Amino acid sequence: MVEIRFHNTKTRRRELFRPLDPANVRMYVCGPTVYDRAHLGNARPVLVFDVLYRLLRHVYGAGRVTYVRNFTDVDDKIIARAAETGRAIGGITAETTQWFLDDMAALGALKPDAMPRATDYIPAMLRMIETLIARGHAYAAEGHVLFAVESYPQYGALSGRSVDDMIAGARVEVAPYKRNPMDFVLWKPSTPDQPGWESPWGRGRPGWHIECSAMSYELLGDRFDIHGGGNDLIFPHHENEIAQSCCAHPARKGEECFARYWLHNEMLQVEGKKMSKSLGNFFTVRDLLDQGIPGEVIRFVMLSTHYRKPMDWTAKKAREAESVLRRWRGLAGEMAEARAEGKPPQEVDPGVLEALADDLNTPGALARLHELAGAGNGPALRASAGLLGLLNKGMGGWAGAPRADADVAERIERLLRARAEARAARDFARADRLRDGFAAAGVIVRDTAEGARWELAPGFDPARLEEME
Ligand code: AMP
Ligand code: ZN
Repeated sequence: MVEIRFHNTKTRRRELFRPLDPANVRMYVCGPTVYDRAHLGNARPVLVFDVLYRLLRHVYGAGRVTYVRNFTDVDDKIIARAAETGRAIGGITAETTQWFLDDMAALGALKPDAMPRATDYIPAMLRMIETLIARGHAYAAEGHVLFAVESYPQYGALSGRSVDDMIAGARVEVAPYKRNPMDFVLWKPSTPDQPGWESPWGRGRPGWHIECSAMSYELLGDRFDIHGGGNDLIFPHHENEIAQSCCAHPARKGEECFARYWLHNEMLQVEGKKMSKSLGNFFTVRDLLDQGIPGEVIRFVMLSTHYRKPMDWTAKKAREAESVLRRWRGLAGEMAEARAEGKPPQEVDPGVLEALADDLNTPGALARLHELAGAGNGPALRASAGLLGLLNKGMGGWAGAPRADADVAERIERLLRARAEARAARDFARADRLRDGFAAAGVIVRDTAEGARWELAPGFDPARLEEME
């Protein structure tokens, strides 16, 4: 069997992966808080852990891996969004959950085996909080329940900080009901207009961290193999998950508590800068898809950087990925199918597998795919790319897009010039008509720093383009 190695955040070492039970390899990844469209950064952990899921299924067997990713559907950001918009919380979370699923499906992400919603696990959270109080790790005060960090000497081990350092360096919320400023909320009171559940401490709602401890316990048990998420979650979220889970369900002798391997992806940037609303470089996965960038191209760009390195999204990378994938799809398409006819299914290339087993080295795996493509080995290319979720049948619609002949290209360029002139003359009605005309004809136009770029969508209709002149 292939040996998989990971960098484990918990030990800060590269380690051989040995599942607790090879017949049921268990992984938990922190999912989104559902109040808005997923931004491109949110897609990074989804794609990184999707490749890991595919690798584990390949190595241990498709039915022998359990992947859980949650939806945080109770949170102050959601409450704030409901207050701003006047909409019901349930409506916002249902809608954004579906958006997330649609957008991640467009990137070719497999569905996890379970996608629990926090609000379905309130009784499990209450049970865990009561256990923590009974064991002396938590206390109730003024309608709140707090985790007492001093009751858990290992607090800070994951992120490598001591409680004193944290207090000195962090913006901690000092509240009169806290025994230690680092104590964190397990339960808090709700006002009548806020969502709330009855509890022994009054009507209230859970803090964020307890949901992952409760849901992973219910679905994966007190010990499981892999816990993942972005590295912005190491502290405090994962530190707190460990404290809650290890104190509620302590390790048995000679064993570890909770998750054994902790994997964290680095953050995504855009054109060398942090992605943020104030810098104007903030965009969602849906924005990119709507601009005509295929989900498969987004996936390729994401996987071209190792998950433990900061990843830079650039328009140039997307263009390059698109042309590589077009070439690969040509090579791995019908020709490969014809050649593979009657032969046993092609095995995954050992070089690709080896790269992924080496701490999920996706750029290494892509480099090997380039070699296979260079050697014209279509069948191996297709079988191996599948392990990265690339070149799958269902995702290739974009690559079959029609090609423009010289007449069509000339007409599009002419209409684009007309649009530019209309804009310059501040004739926005005409500019908008042209924009709508392109959309109706199936011409995807992208305005870039180097000017307008265009390509034909699969349903391109030359007659409608002619009508625009
Ligand atoms: P959130 O909805 O903010 O809790 O984030 C959901 C997931 O997206 C978590 O695993 C975060 O670590 C991850 N994430 C958020 N922002 C970024 C980013 N810029 N780059 C990579 N991952 C991110
Ligand atoms: Zn979590």
